Amino acid sequence: MVRDEPEFFSKFLKNYNYKPFKCRVCGERFWSIVDRDTCSDRPCSRYDFLLKKYPSVKKLSLDETRNKFINFFKKHGHGYVEPYPVLARWRNDLYLTIASIIVFQPAVTEGISNPPYNPLVIVQPCIRLEDIDEVGYTFGRHFSSFEMGGHHAFNKDEERIYWVDETLEYAYRFFTEDIGIPSEDIVFKDSWWEGGGNAGPAYEVVVDGLELATLVFMKYRIVNGKYVPMNVLVVDTGYGIERIAWFTQKTPTAFHTVYGRLVDDYKNLLSIDEPPHDVLKQMIYMLSDKDVSPNSLYKILDGYGYSEYYKSLLNSINLYTLLDHSKALALMLSDGIVPSNTGEGYLARLVLRRMLRTLHRLGVYPNKYTDTVLELMDKTISYWTGRYVYDKFRMYRDYIVDVIVNEVNKYIKALDRGLKIVEKTLKRKRRLSVDDFIEIYDSHGVPPEIVVDKAGEYGIELDVPKDFYSLVAKRHSQPTKLEKYREEQLPIDAIEWALGFPSTRKLFHEDPYMSYFKARVIGVKEKYLILDQTAFYPKAGGQDCDLGYIVLPNGRRFRVRCVYKCSEVVVHELIENVEGIIKPGMLIEGYVDWIRRYCLMRHHTATHIVLGAARKVLGDHVWQAGVEKTIDKARLDITHYKPLSRKEVKAIEDLANKVVNERRELKFYYLEKFDAEKKYGIRIYQGGAVVSPKLRIVEIPGWDAEACFGTHLHNTGEVGGIKIIGVDRIQDGVIRLEFIAGSRIRDYAVELEGLVEAVSKSIGVSSRQLVSGVKRFKEELSQYRSLVSRYRSEYRRLLLSSIESVSEEVCGVKVVYLYNSLGDEKLYRNIVLELVSKGYVVLYDNGRIMELATSRDTVSKGADLLEVLSKLEKVYPSIRGGGKKDHVTFSANVESREIYSVVKKLLMEMIGCVEN
Ligand SMILES: [Zn+2]
Ligand SMILES: [Zn+2]
Repeated sequence: MVRDEPEFFSKFLKNYNYKPFKCRVCGERFWSIVDRDTCSDRPCSRYDFLLKKYPSVKKLSLDETRNKFINFFKKHGHGYVEPYPVLARWRNDLYLTIASIIVFQPAVTEGISNPPYNPLVIVQPCIRLEDIDEVGYTFGRHFSSFEMGGHHAFNKDEERIYWVDETLEYAYRFFTEDIGIPSEDIVFKDSWWEGGGNAGPAYEVVVDGLELATLVFMKYRIVNGKYVPMNVLVVDTGYGIERIAWFTQKTPTAFHTVYGRLVDDYKNLLSIDEPPHDVLKQMIYMLSDKDVSPNSLYKILDGYGYSEYYKSLLNSINLYTLLDHSKALALMLSDGIVPSNTGEGYLARLVLRRMLRTLHRLGVYPNKYTDTVLELMDKTISYWTGRYVYDKFRMYRDYIVDVIVNEVNKYIKALDRGLKIVEKTLKRKRRLSVDDFIEIYDSHGVPPEIVVDKAGEYGIELDVPKDFYSLVAKRHSQPTKLEKYREEQLPIDAIEWALGFPSTRKLFHEDPYMSYFKARVIGVKEKYLILDQTAFYPKAGGQDCDLGYIVLPNGRRFRVRCVYKCSEVVVHELIENVEGIIKPGMLIEGYVDWIRRYCLMRHHTATHIVLGAARKVLGDHVWQAGVEKTIDKARLDITHYKPLSRKEVKAIEDLANKVVNERRELKFYYLEKFDAEKKYGIRIYQGGAVVSPKLRIVEIPGWDAEACFGTHLHNTGEVGGIKIIGVDRIQDGVIRLEFIAGSRIRDYAVELEGLVEAVSKSIGVSSRQLVSGVKRFKEELSQYRSLVSRYRSEYRRLLLSSIESVSEEVCGVKVVYLYNSLGDEKLYRNIVLELVSKGYVVLYDNGRIMELATSRDTVSKGADLLEVLSKLEKVYPSIRGGGKKDHVTFSANVESREIYSVVKKLLMEMIGCVEN
């Protein structure tokens, strides 16, 4: 709903003779120089621009359009900002860059950081999966990857840049002067924008059926459903670079404008025919005011007499989808996304799986998936080489190829397993809800189309849920809970109390080698203590807190049990309630447990070194997924798509130790957000997004730079050495490395030494001879094994013949008693089986439990062993057991020989012969 706002009555519109009209179809207000009764936005209008002539509009390629946009705003005083990655690492609440303003949220829009320029211009590649199911069916209005041209201004009370009039005028002048669109064709349509917790009035710039830009005036924050004015008034514009290029070229679809010769390459590779372009254009024009979907396409085409083109148009739509998805996937992967079943990795996997599904529709079967996707990707990579940010595809080619091979294999395996589960589900249910489809996709990897096919085999008719992939993408577009490292473990009332104090001066940053300090008490509550300054490092950024003690002026000492960080306030937890003993204003001394702290510092600096080494060895996609530094060890979880080989682990360790030995001097800086990002890139956010006026950057020159709160050594040489002691794949796409540094390596060596000694001792050699000793041991063992097996077979033969000779016959059934006197279960079990196969009834006592066994044949002669057992239970109440007619097991505290004679009697009764 469009709210009434003063922004809708701009001086610009009046001055340029734009008059308000109400659209006959949608009822919205719009502004036009010439009289109109509809708003020229679809569906109120068709793609009129496709068939119309604009003598002053020159054809522009995607690159030319982008450059024209950037240059126009540069010329008008806007600072140019290089595009950011599509993976929004600087945000905790979002995975992908879905618009240009995302780059500046929340730091700039909330007034925490200064923008790099004000006003500024940026052309930002975006990924938007929320309408991924529309891609292809709107012939170019929707892309999953597109460029958004944005010019932004951030207005504060003290600094006004510009607002509505200037923004509308820029749009007007850009479209009329630089693109050459006649002013009578431009329509400004009133609109309302809401997203990401912000809202404001907006204008859509629409020309003959195509919306070319949206101009948003962000002025509210939405708090509990209420509109609260923002401190920073944000001009947030989005120009569709692809749409503008399409508008000038008037190719049948925007895909032809954006992908050029790549359309033909894909067509040849997949053997697809498009309808002739003049027919295609005519059809698209007719379809442009309709809601086209897989279900409606045939009917609509048929209505216009185009049904003969149904098949080729449907194939073409799938072709356009592949062109779009391959670029989106290349962008996501070259920004370092590792496919997985959670987070941003989930979204990359979704795009790849949707590609496979699309290929499936075009008749490509699983055995050809890998080759086909790789060929398509290869063409995509070379098409974009040398062009804007897409040039990086080339550098990430190996990673892209490797990931695709891995992922396709995983998918095919998952499908095999998943289909069995689908079959089971279909036997239970003949109808599936959308949630069932999502559950099947999320847990078992089977896409809805394949479920529908499978259902068909069972005679069940199902429809693919509408907008399935959009729905799934939407559900996974944001972290489910704030996956932020939760640093405060203080009780809520203590947190509230602590936040009332000014920032603590952080002596541990000023001098990380300080282990003794003096400070003044400014707050005491129960066992919690706040000082004006401290050298005690709080639990933060995965680094464990310092311990130690504080000393009062009277000499009394209190142990520090834990240290917390509450925003900028450091809270010390003592072991007892000190309220009344320690008083505000008191001057105290602090002693930090230096051995502990030094170990933590070594593990922290080592973590930065190992991360850099992992990136060098495995690739730029490696990203920190989690981290913990304790005195025992450091652990670093990194994103990677397959298990590490021993060679890779060793290479990481070698490189890390090289950096230790190079004695690199660490550098520490406090930088503004955009300065830090410009200097080091988004890579600084390894520990997650940081929203703060200044970022503390810890740099190991030439190796690694991160926004980091931790205490670090001043030189990598002080780490002493690094040993990786554990490597584990902890979840899909995440590898955990555990390592130790410095003198902890000695402790580890002592542990190993002890182990070696214990093993040596147990086999009776000295630890130096351990290897040859174990080898000899193994050889002897295998000799004994083969000897035993020879004895066993010989003994088995002897035993069997002697048993058979002492067996007895009860009414024509041979009965035998067997006691495992050697404790060789394998041998005796074998003999039991042999005797059973010969029709004997065997009572076998293995020393712990008794068994009665025979063949089915013998059972049919009347020797039902279950019946024997139940009769035995009557004779000996202590017997407990069960089984089947031909095999029962039981325990009893009666001699097995005695039981044997009873069994014989029972069998005689049951089979029913007369003893002679
Ligand atoms: Zn309308
Ligand atoms: Zn760190």
